[in-house]
Amino acid sequence: MQTPIYLDNSATTPVDPAVLDAMLPFLRGEFGNPASGTHAWGRNASRAVEQARAEVAKLVGAEPRDIVWTSGATESNNLAIKGAALAAQKRGKHLVTVQTEHKAVLDTMAWLEKQGFEVTYLAPQKNGLLDSETFRAALRPDTVLASVMLVNNEIGVIQDVAALGAICRANGTLFHVDAAQATGKVAIDLAQWPVDMLSLTAHKTYGPKGIGALYVRRSPQVRLDCQMHGGGHERGLRSGTLAAHQIVGMGTAFRIAGELMATEVPQLRALRDRFWAKLKDLPGVILNGDLEQRIANNLNISLNIPNCDSLVTTLSDIAVSSTSACSTGGVSHVLQALGSDAGVAGNSIRITVGRFNTAGEIDWAADYLRKKIEDCRAGRLQAA
Ligand SMILES: *Cc1c(COP(=O)(O)O)cnc(C)c1O
Repeated sequence: MQTPIYLDNSATTPVDPAVLDAMLPFLRGEFGNPASGTHAWGRNASRAVEQARAEVAKLVGAEPRDIVWTSGATESNNLAIKGAALAAQKRGKHLVTVQTEHKAVLDTMAWLEKQGFEVTYLAPQKNGLLDSETFRAALRPDTVLASVMLVNNEIGVIQDVAALGAICRANGTLFHVDAAQATGKVAIDLAQWPVDMLSLTAHKTYGPKGIGALYVRRSPQVRLDCQMHGGGHERGLRSGTLAAHQIVGMGTAFRIAGELMATEVPQLRALRDRFWAKLKDLPGVILNGDLEQRIANNLNISLNIPNCDSLVTTLSDIAVSSTSACSTGGVSHVLQALGSDAGVAGNSIRITVGRFNTAGEIDWAADYLRKKIEDCRAGRLQAA
């Protein structure tokens, strides 16, 4: 087996070869600026950008005109949350989010607190899911915006954002959803869901890094203060020359994700379950987050085994995400919010399988991890 085996597909995915092929012409002869309407270079680039916009919109059930290109989900979250909060501040200055959100949401909320906003950070239930009554009770007359992620990046749980969005609508509160981890794994239907803004990124769905999008609903229209001033691109919401090659990559990646989803999700689930089957009987191995309402490719486990605090630092043959009590800042804010005690949360491993993993890799990696855990329990762990 060629190691290390890549099992960190929620951190980023490899670029699908078909995506790279679609991008390359726009780094070669088709180098035009999509805003140059006066010649073929510009018009070809513009046509490709609009095709990609339609492909991205289709995957999430949106109108192409509702899609605004950004550099990724971090920027999309910043634009959505700062943009909507600042535009609505005359109506109210209260915001609601969840403790288990990505830092791109939490740190943006913290910045708004410094600007005079009040933020309520809700705790999820022990399984990582937000209780809708808790959410409803947190909304006030002055709550102008709420932000809840669709899929959690650490534990993979899927929030019922359609139900949460309906609660926001009834309260006159704008609703933003970070869907960076959801595309290609969860069916998204913005035609039906009462969601006002939705953040997307390409590089977790086999596209390139550095390109993303924000869905901004046009009816009922969402008002946003733009965060990047300049040439007025993208309905004035995000100035800057469009990166046609990146945009074509994202469009192609999302088109492929839509085409493959029905077959790929069961394949990922089979691989993930195969991995978990080899570990779940081991004492002290704890699965974090709800196992049912969860994307198909995610496993997140904590090790509650005496004297095995450094085990997660010795896994050199598998590329996974881990937090270790030994490393600085290692304790996960997500696992802490679930109420796992810090000792357990301090030793956790996230395994996320992807499109290019094979059953042979999964078996090898699961046997490897199982042996490491058994060796550690027996006092036979070798330091890395
Ligand atoms: C990766 C990720 C982000 C950040 O996306 P970038 O495109 O890397 O900026 C935001 N939110 C979630 C849930 C993520 O998983």
